[in-house]
Amino acid sequence: MLVVMKTDATEVQVQAVIREIESQGYRGIPMPGTQRTAVCIIGNKGPVEDSRLLSLDGVKETIPVTKPYKLVSRETHPQSTVIAIGDIKIGGEEPVIMAGPCAVESEEQALTIAHLVKQYGAQVFRGGAFKPRTSPYSFQGLGEEGLKILEKVRRETGLFIITEATDHTNIEVVEQYADIIQIGARSMQNYSLLRRAGQASKPILLKRGFAATIDELLMSAEYILSEGNTQIILCERGIRTFSDNTRNTLDISAVLSIKEVSHLPIVVDPSHASGRREYVIPLSKAAIAVGADGILVEVHHDPLHALSDGMQSLYPEQFARLMKEINNINR
Ligand code: PEP
Ligand code: MN
Repeated sequence: MLVVMKTDATEVQVQAVIREIESQGYRGIPMPGTQRTAVCIIGNKGPVEDSRLLSLDGVKETIPVTKPYKLVSRETHPQSTVIAIGDIKIGGEEPVIMAGPCAVESEEQALTIAHLVKQYGAQVFRGGAFKPRTSPYSFQGLGEEGLKILEKVRRETGLFIITEATDHTNIEVVEQYADIIQIGARSMQNYSLLRRAGQASKPILLKRGFAATIDELLMSAEYILSEGNTQIILCERGIRTFSDNTRNTLDISAVLSIKEVSHLPIVVDPSHASGRREYVIPLSKAAIAVGADGILVEVHHDPLHALSDGMQSLYPEQFARLMKEINNINR
């Protein structure tokens, strides 16, 4: 349930509402809006008795929230969330382009790719230092050494950095180096990691699990938001279906469904969705055309020798073409 305050309600009145909610055994989270503040009640299993709340000063009305997720729902927060990182705005007018290799392999590799994607117009550099690999024998990433390389990339290019935290043992160090912390598809339901991400001081990019419904993705985002971190970017990266012509099936309508029910920005990862570099440009265009707030795309200067995901990594010239082509798309 949402307790909507009057436009002239004071902070003291908002606090009184939160205390009343707590006295009923729930939590009240203030959600400041442009016109008025609303207080979202979380922790209730059924309907909340609202007569005492309605009698408090400054309260306009109560509205039931019908979805199982509360804080990420558009019912609770009608305006779209915009996440500002330096001069870029994720969820704003322009799509944000995050590009780079699957994994940080060496300083030379990361800097070479970073200079190229920067030159062609990317705003954020992607690259995993801690890699969640299906096989324990595959390259697992450079760990903190990789994070130090990413720091150098930021210093030399001015690109912001997105990199993955794979569990609660590395999120702390990732938080120190990253501008955006990625939580991968395999970790979407790692609840201790989600809770820790909710306490992080950096924005979180949360990828949809291989077999997760939109509601499950949003419930995972709710874990993060309920711990206090409001800066969440969702990411559609393809789901597993009976179709085996591509690595995964890009659920392009997820962008529309998520925009309908949630205020959080949503980006698309066409690389993991398709697994094939020749599909990445058209799928990126589809994502932007349908209203995605950005794309997260793998680019490598030497994909044939990439230590991971070379098959789906664009050559730099292809990335240059992608940037040109998406510039011409009307959203
Ligand atoms: C990645 O971004 O390199 C990655 C591992 O993605 P996902 O979690 O979507 O598989
Ligand atoms: Mn990858």
